[in-house]
Amino acid sequence: MLIVLGGGPAGLAVGWYARRAGIPCVVFEAGPRVGGNCVTFEVDGFRFDSGAHRFHDKDPQVTADVRALMGEELQLIEVPSYIWSEGALVHFPLSPLNLMRRMGVLRFAQAAAQVIAGRVARRTEPGNFEEFALAIYGRIVAERFLLNYSSKLWGLPCDRLSPDVAGRRLSGLGLKTFLIEAWGGVRVQDRHLDGRFLYPRDGYGRIVERLAEECGEGVVQPNSRVTGIGHEGDRITWVEIAGRGRVDVDEVVSTLPLDSFLRFMTPAVEPSVLAMVGGMNYRNVVLAAFFLKRSAINGAGTVYFPSDEFPFTRIYEPRNRSRAMSPPGYTSLVAEVPCDSSDGAWTDSDRAVVDLVQPHLERIGWIRPGDIVGTAVRRLSHAYPVLEKGYAGRVKEVHGWLSRFKNLRFSGRSGKFRYSWLHEMLRFGRDIVSEAATDRAGGRVAGTTSEKLFTA
Ligand SMILES: Cc1cc2nc3c(=O)[nH]c(=O)nc-3n(C[C@H](O)[C@H](O)[C@H](O)COP(=O)(O)OP(=O)(O)OC[C@H]3O[C@@H](n4cnc5c(N)ncnc54)[C@H](O)[C@@H]3O)c2cc1C
Repeated sequence: MLIVLGGGPAGLAVGWYARRAGIPCVVFEAGPRVGGNCVTFEVDGFRFDSGAHRFHDKDPQVTADVRALMGEELQLIEVPSYIWSEGALVHFPLSPLNLMRRMGVLRFAQAAAQVIAGRVARRTEPGNFEEFALAIYGRIVAERFLLNYSSKLWGLPCDRLSPDVAGRRLSGLGLKTFLIEAWGGVRVQDRHLDGRFLYPRDGYGRIVERLAEECGEGVVQPNSRVTGIGHEGDRITWVEIAGRGRVDVDEVVSTLPLDSFLRFMTPAVEPSVLAMVGGMNYRNVVLAAFFLKRSAINGAGTVYFPSDEFPFTRIYEPRNRSRAMSPPGYTSLVAEVPCDSSDGAWTDSDRAVVDLVQPHLERIGWIRPGDIVGTAVRRLSHAYPVLEKGYAGRVKEVHGWLSRFKNLRFSGRSGKFRYSWLHEMLRFGRDIVSEAATDRAGGRVAGTTSEKLFTA
């Protein structure tokens, strides 16, 4: 029996591919519903996702699998994203042509000179995100669009962040693009189709709902919080579920945060092992949703807010992804407020969160108080693993220590401590199941199908 810890997209992906491979599997999820931080909430006929989600078509096999899973529900949509900068919308990803229009020719020429100088001078690997951003984008662009935004999102100054927080997303301002757009006057990114992505008609969470359905009867078990993980020699031997007892295991895939996993281990791990996860932190996100008696607001996929004057990093209007996200004649706006567990945004009342965000939306003219027909606040714990400088070495050290357990694998944002997306969760799941199938074929795992899950 393959036991999966956590019923977010990473855990469900393992369950789905396991079923396709004919490997018996159970997914234990602590909460009453599956999907983790990848769900669609429904409140009074309005739908909104747990953060502005889009499906990245990066792995052809995964995309084909998701298309087959979702059928007609999956739509190709085209909607541009923007950055709110000094009272105006600037294209995101950054487009030199658009920048030139916004900044004026002189300032743009200075910015372009910095980009070119950075490219020519760049010899050493950047040691932190600030160095990375300055080298690639130059000081004018980096300060205006990237540095504030990133420290607001991750909760640390950029010289303490790893260059990996760029998340392989900061494209579009390469030297070549700069030169072509500046001199040719053509927007290169229109050809890159950045605003096109796949999105399910009834919200992104439908993908994980379909994954859960296709895992098969009884595979996904909600209200099953893991509280203990037994180990002996080089194997994980049992998993304890609160209020239900212990399950003997052949193989385990954990998507739990690494620190939780280590703390659950019985016998307890040495303090020196726990110390390895000491510096590995997670960032939360609070969502403030405003339901509005307005037919449309901004026509954007996502709008990014780098400036410190706003408590949020992004705003999205769900109906711009699918008309089914709000009732006819109504729309909604959702703000993402990143925070730590000790911050007011996390601990204060829902009303306080609404009051924190609403004045800003009124000030920029996107909300009039009379338009609001309702609000909702949702809290996403462990939304981002904080990629502090040097994090990769710490993750390697922890996973290195855990690799002594021959029947244990890790997946997910928190399990791998990696800034990753749904298409990667699916790829991880597919690869893990393929390895599990090989282990079974080679007789390295017993592959028992126990009739009775709980033994004690
Ligand atoms: C704001 C935001 C925007 C995003 N945008 C995109 C996007 O545009 N495109 C995209 O593809 N991806 C996006 N993602 C990422 C995507 O949602 C994540 O990949 C995903 O949520 C992480 O999946 P996961 O299964 O690793 O973790 P999670 O979603 O965190 O799920 C982990 C699960 O484990 C459960 N759990 C925790 N402890 C226990 C325990 N002790 N016992 C049992 N269960 C437990 C939790 O309840 C949870 O359900 C975004 C994420 C966020 C937060």
